[in-house]
Amino acid sequence: MSEVPASHPRYLSLKLREAMVAGVEKGITSVHGLIAHGRGEALDYLIGEASQSFALEAIRVAAALLLRATHPVISVNGNAAAMVPAELTALGRLLPAPLEVNIFHASQLREQAIGDHLLAHGAHTVLMPTDQALLSFIESNRRFVHPEGIFRADVVFVPLEDGDRCQALRRMGKEVVTVDLNPLSRTARTASATIVDNLARAMPLLLAAVAQLRQESAGTWQEIISGYDNHAVLRAAEARIRSGA
Ligand code: ATP
Repeated sequence: MSEVPASHPRYLSLKLREAMVAGVEKGITSVHGLIAHGRGEALDYLIGEASQSFALEAIRVAAALLLRATHPVISVNGNAAAMVPAELTALGRLLPAPLEVNIFHASQLREQAIGDHLLAHGAHTVLMPTDQALLSFIESNRRFVHPEGIFRADVVFVPLEDGDRCQALRRMGKEVVTVDLNPLSRTARTASATIVDNLARAMPLLLAAVAQLRQESAGTWQEIISGYDNHAVLRAAEARIRSGA
């Protein structure tokens, strides 16, 4: 790791780049993941590289959806594993919910590397893709899931999702919570709650929201969820990007 001084104006951005490159070197992240990360960086720049009010609102709803779930599952790909392994593990412990490895570009080696990386960061349960359970409405490698994980989940947390699987999960009747810096993506538009923020900034906020809301009643979670309009949140995010403020 190169030394980036904390005072550097692009500190977080540079640290994340290093984490992504380290992810590729460790066999966790695909090279395609670097391109997806670059698109995220550009959008992050346009939202001001800060967690805006539309993200905070979605984070609260995301926490309520995950707490209300009977069987929540955290889906992890190579980018998320490289960027926020400790936070994903902490979320799994707090809810509690299993982590499940699910990647777009098929590679058993990379799946194993992601699983090992999460276990090294203290995950208590890491489920792997299987051919015992397949998602409907989708053809890619992401259809292979674990029968006790994503397959039977009622709420799936899928940071940095691809649109096809988000649509498939929704068509299977599941709630989807995502983190996506692009409010125009199919994922953002299809999910139940879209946190338009950098995953690295959103995870600590989501952890804090879950820790706070778990003290509240199921009635409070329900109220938070029923008053929520994901499309309004996406419009606010898009307006921020277009305004260039
Ligand atoms: P879709 O299939 O949903 O229309 P896509 O094909 O554009 O989306 P992918 O390339 O599968 O999306 O995934 C990359 C997405 O992840 C992009 O929308 C990008 O903005 C977002 N992204 C990249 N890095 C981050 C990050 N650090 N935090 C949050 N979102 C990110």
